Amino acid sequence: MTWIRWPFGRLRVHVSVWVPAFSIVLFAAGGDLWARYLLLVSALVIHELAHALVSLALGGRRADIRIWPVFGRADVENLSGRRTGWVALSAPLTNIAVAGLLFALGARLTARLATESLLNIYVTAHFLMGVVNLIPVPPIDGGRALAAFRRETLKE
Ligand SMILES: [Zn+2]
Repeated sequence: MTWIRWPFGRLRVHVSVWVPAFSIVLFAAGGDLWARYLLLVSALVIHELAHALVSLALGGRRADIRIWPVFGRADVENLSGRRTGWVALSAPLTNIAVAGLLFALGARLTARLATESLLNIYVTAHFLMGVVNLIPVPPIDGGRALAAFRRETLKE
């Protein structure tokens, strides 16, 4: 697997070369499929960035984000206590917050961009990514958060 890498201090972002390759193929195919694809990838990047940045903010020493064409992964340090739960929850909550913000700004944005369907796709992608990842079943974020909070509650 070939990666495009960007080191940002303690945060490293690895993007599979298949992501730009897919974008170019979709662009060559015509229409706005490439734009829809890049919006989905950006929602994925925002999701993984939230995990990574919250982990670093809560004491993690290093975070790696990997983006494949249709999914991503944040490799973060295992933090003690409830902090692991907050790292898990941070990304789906960020997606829902972005969806809510864009939805609230929707009328203004569409007047300028004249691309209501792309905005709707972006809002929907963030919302679904957030809600699906809150399902409390491991290894989904919601399940990992529930396990971390339950472990800490049982200790008390
Ligand atoms: Zn996640």
